[in-house]
Amino acid sequence: MSFDLSARLAARRADNLYRQRPLLETPQGPEVVVDGKPLLAFCNNDYLGLANHPEVIAAWKAGAERWGVGGGASHLVIGHSTPHHELEEALAELTGRPRALLFSTGYMANLGAVTALVGQGDTVLEDRLNHASLLDAGQLSGARFSRYLHNDAESLCLRIARSSKKEPEGNTLVVTDGVFSMDGDLADLPTLAATCKNAGAWLMVDDAHGFGPLGANGGGIVEHYGLSMEDVPVLVGTLGKAFGTAGAFVAGSQELIETLVQFARPYIYTTSQPPALACATLQALKLLRTEHWRREHLNALIQQFRRGAEAIGLELMDSFTPIQPILIGDAGRAVRLSQMLRERGLMVTAIRPPTVPAGSARLRVTLSAAHSEVQVQQLLNALAECWPLMEAADA
Ligand SMILES: *Cc1c(COP(=O)(O)O)cnc(C)c1O
Repeated sequence: MSFDLSARLAARRADNLYRQRPLLETPQGPEVVVDGKPLLAFCNNDYLGLANHPEVIAAWKAGAERWGVGGGASHLVIGHSTPHHELEEALAELTGRPRALLFSTGYMANLGAVTALVGQGDTVLEDRLNHASLLDAGQLSGARFSRYLHNDAESLCLRIARSSKKEPEGNTLVVTDGVFSMDGDLADLPTLAATCKNAGAWLMVDDAHGFGPLGANGGGIVEHYGLSMEDVPVLVGTLGKAFGTAGAFVAGSQELIETLVQFARPYIYTTSQPPALACATLQALKLLRTEHWRREHLNALIQQFRRGAEAIGLELMDSFTPIQPILIGDAGRAVRLSQMLRERGLMVTAIRPPTVPAGSARLRVTLSAAHSEVQVQQLLNALAECWPLMEAADA
C-alpha cells in the first residue's frame, strides 16, 4: 500500500498531538456524562445556556410538526421556507443591517463570503490568529493572501500598502475574528475599521463568540463598540455557540446579500438547514436579546473565575469574555493538567497546535450562564490542588 497512514498517526501520537473524540452521553450543560463518567464541564460554547433550554426545544418540536424535518432542497430551488425567511429578518434586525443570509454552518458562511467577494487579482489580509475556516477561505479564494500580526493595525497597514502596489486594480478584504476563539480577546475593531476606511478596504468580522455575551442586547462586538455598517460592511455570526442551535449568517447591505445569493457557492450548492431548526433559533434569539440576566450572571462568573485563577498563580489571557484560557505552553503539560482535572471530576479540554501556535498549548476554560458560582468555585478548588502538583512534577 502506498499510503503510510500508520506512520502518520504514530508521529501525531509521538508529538502529543493525537486527537480523540470524547463521547458525550447527555445533553450539553455543566453536568455531563462523558465516556461513562459524570463530569462538571467547562469547555462548550453554549455561553448563555440555551442549547438545552425547554422553550428552544419546544420551538423545535412545534417547528417539526408544522414544517417537517428536512429542508428538502437548496435555497434557490425550493428549500427556502418561511421559518428561514423569518429568521433572516430577525437576524437583520439584531444586527441593525438591511439584510442577513442564513448558512448551514459557520465554516460555510466564511468560505462563501470570502470566496464570493475576492478572487484572483484581489487581496485578502487576515489576522494570524483567525479561525481556521477564515484562513481556509482566504487560501481557497485565489486572492493574494497574507496574514498580519495579531490585532496589529500597523502590521495591517504595511500589508495594505504592499497589496496596493502588487494588485493596484484589485479589491482588498481585511478579515478578523471579533472575539478570538482560542484567546478570548477582542479585535481592536475601531482601529481596524478606521484603517480599512482610509485604505478603501472592506472589513469582514466573524463574531462567532461575540453574539450573545457581548453588547447590551447580545448584538456582539459591533454593538459593544457601537460600530456601523460603514465600519464593518461584512458581519458574520454563528448560531451553534451562544444561540445554542446550529447554522450561521452573514449580515450587511442589500447588495452584499444579493451578491452572496448569486455567487457564494457554499450557499448555493447545499440543502437548506431543517426549517424546524430555524424555528428553534428564532426562540433562542428571543431569549438571547431579552434575558439580560444571562449576560449579567455570566459576567459575574467571569470576574469570579479571573480573581480566583490569579490568586492561584495561573497565567490567564487578556480576556473579559467567557473564553478564559489558562496558558500552559507545552502540549504534553496541557494534556497532563487536563487529565488531572478529569480525575477530580472536571472536564476542560487541552487545546494544542495546530489549533493554536506552537508552544502555546492551553486549557480553554469556557464559562456559561448555565454554570453556578458553586460550580466555578469547584473548578477553582481543583485547579488550586492540581497546579502545585504539576509544578512539582516538572521540577
Ligand atoms: C466555531 C467557529 C466557526 C465555525 O462555525 P460552525 O457553525 O461551527 O461551523 C467560525 N468562526 C469562528 C470564529 C468560530 O469559532
